[in-house]
Amino acid sequence: MRPFDYVSVTDVQSAVQTIATTPNAKFLGGGTNLVDLIREDIERPGTVVDITRLPLTSVTAVGNGVRIGALVRNSALASHPLIRTKYPVLAQAILAGASGQLRNMATVGGNLLQRTRCSYFYDSASRCNKREPGSGCDAIGGFSRGHAILGVSPSCIAAHPSDMAVALTMLDAQVEVESVRGTRRIPIGEFHRLPGQTPHLETTLEPDELITAVEIPETTKNSRYRKIRDRASYAFALVSVAAAMETRDGRITEIRLALGGVGTKPWRATEAERILAGAQAGEAEFRRAAEAELAAAVPTEQNEFKVELAIRAIVAMLREVNP
Ligand code: SF4
Repeated sequence: MRPFDYVSVTDVQSAVQTIATTPNAKFLGGGTNLVDLIREDIERPGTVVDITRLPLTSVTAVGNGVRIGALVRNSALASHPLIRTKYPVLAQAILAGASGQLRNMATVGGNLLQRTRCSYFYDSASRCNKREPGSGCDAIGGFSRGHAILGVSPSCIAAHPSDMAVALTMLDAQVEVESVRGTRRIPIGEFHRLPGQTPHLETTLEPDELITAVEIPETTKNSRYRKIRDRASYAFALVSVAAAMETRDGRITEIRLALGGVGTKPWRATEAERILAGAQAGEAEFRRAAEAELAAAVPTEQNEFKVELAIRAIVAMLREVNP
């Protein structure tokens, strides 16, 4: 681990001023991913700006929606009454992720920025375009059972690791960010990038911007999250599904669907949503929509099984949220 300077800040303006004027500085929130990356010599900050004392820890109702401070701990968010009653999909997604200890430390802002768990990314002896742009990708043709099948490119096939971000994507959250240039809001669907030829660029956040909050609009409470993984806890998703549905007289009036474990970013299933909107809710239509969404999949030999697994997981979840 390389040495770095440490600065602690107590207000948002000092935080953004410090990051704007300090070369090679990084914000430190819960640290559950960043500290590992520093230890592995993947992240090499010259200065760490400790933001854990910033006043960004509240969950408040805003109109009919909710505003979540970027430093709210994952465990606090999952147990918050507003989240449990209005957005059960979000509480379930958070509780499906990591371990109790990690959820007690991890923050909402940090969760959105966590980096892939592709083993080649963490192994400095391997080629990895995300770690070292232009060096190649050892996952393609290598061990790729857990890798992505949607949104992949010839440069990178790493799956996005977050559960929480899948639920937030389904819920059309907005990410509020602050810098010396002021405040801006990024729709969550535009927050994470596809790898394309630049897999080292993972989000549309500028290096000097700080995530301050996430806002979620009002939506149906009839939402759920299901995660399929190799063991019952402390494992990343092979496939996960966040779904919400409302019907009238058996016809779908509201449909929201997002996938985890299969996409290079949290995956909004827009093609499936398009087919299901206004359709008669039923098994055949659910399967047709799921197949249409997965038609774009580009699997490897090792993760081909994810295609049918994702289709079945989508159908099962739609059956569950069909009121
Ligand atoms: Fe690196 Fe992406 Fe290839 Fe993994 S899949 S080795 S993160 S370029």
